[in-house]
Amino acid sequence: MTLRKRTGIFLPYFQGQRLRDFPQALNGILGKENITYYDGVYNSPDSTYYLQPLDERILLKVHSRDMVDSVKMTAYYEAACYSAAGSVQAASEIMKGNIDNAFVFTGFGDHHAGKNNFWGMCYFNGAALAISTLREQGVSRVAIVDTDSHHADGTRDIFSTDIDVLHVCFCSQSYHDENNNIDIAIPYNTNDEIYLRAIRQEFVPLARDFNPEVIFWEFGYDSTIGEYGDKGLTRDCHLGIAEIIKTTADDVCHGRLITVLCGGSSRDIATYVIPKLIKHLAGLGN
Ligand SMILES: [Zn+2]
Ligand SMILES: [Zn+2]
Repeated sequence: MTLRKRTGIFLPYFQGQRLRDFPQALNGILGKENITYYDGVYNSPDSTYYLQPLDERILLKVHSRDMVDSVKMTAYYEAACYSAAGSVQAASEIMKGNIDNAFVFTGFGDHHAGKNNFWGMCYFNGAALAISTLREQGVSRVAIVDTDSHHADGTRDIFSTDIDVLHVCFCSQSYHDENNNIDIAIPYNTNDEIYLRAIRQEFVPLARDFNPEVIFWEFGYDSTIGEYGDKGLTRDCHLGIAEIIKTTADDVCHGRLITVLCGGSSRDIATYVIPKLIKHLAGLGN
């Protein structure tokens, strides 16, 4: 029997097509007693708490004044503040003991946003903002595992000299390994078996040795067959990745795991994978 977790779902304000089926696609999940739903826009009857957008003071802990001002010039500033707010609030709720783990929907984030630059629809780095908030609460060691198809250049920029952050990035080449920043090169023509083996053999021992207090998972499904970062993975491969990462979090950091939605464009894949993934995080079966 699977152990139930108290799982927080953070659904901020977003634009675009890929999450059009949400929150309806979470019917049957949101009302469960071990699910806490933090809703930024919908005021759904299932909503437990209102998700507040991040204020500028927090943004400036990670991003430069110039960058924050540049994002303000785009049409996405407000939505980006809500996206990053999900990760920050998830981290706080876990540290308060209100939830065990979290799934954070994002419209505009995360891993291409660096200290002073942003691209690829990533305006602010929610995981980095959450980590800066965690540090104010006494947490020092944090691991980030990134299974988006592309290199996490923004996250790397922020943490390149931070020895208390382990950053394991499954991308397509080894960019620059230093301190605890590690790239695992996964070719574009791979399969589930090779990918899952790489997660098991590369990420798991690194996380065990590093012994983080919290794990962030930058979950991108753009590596799925037919997506813009197609690496030959099936939809179900993401559930296999979830299983390994969740078990690792259970083993090393009391199950404290914050899953942040990263790349991926297909509405169909989002609607198939995300509810199953959340059920898995929450121990609700399939
Ligand atoms: Zn990507
Ligand atoms: Zn990388």
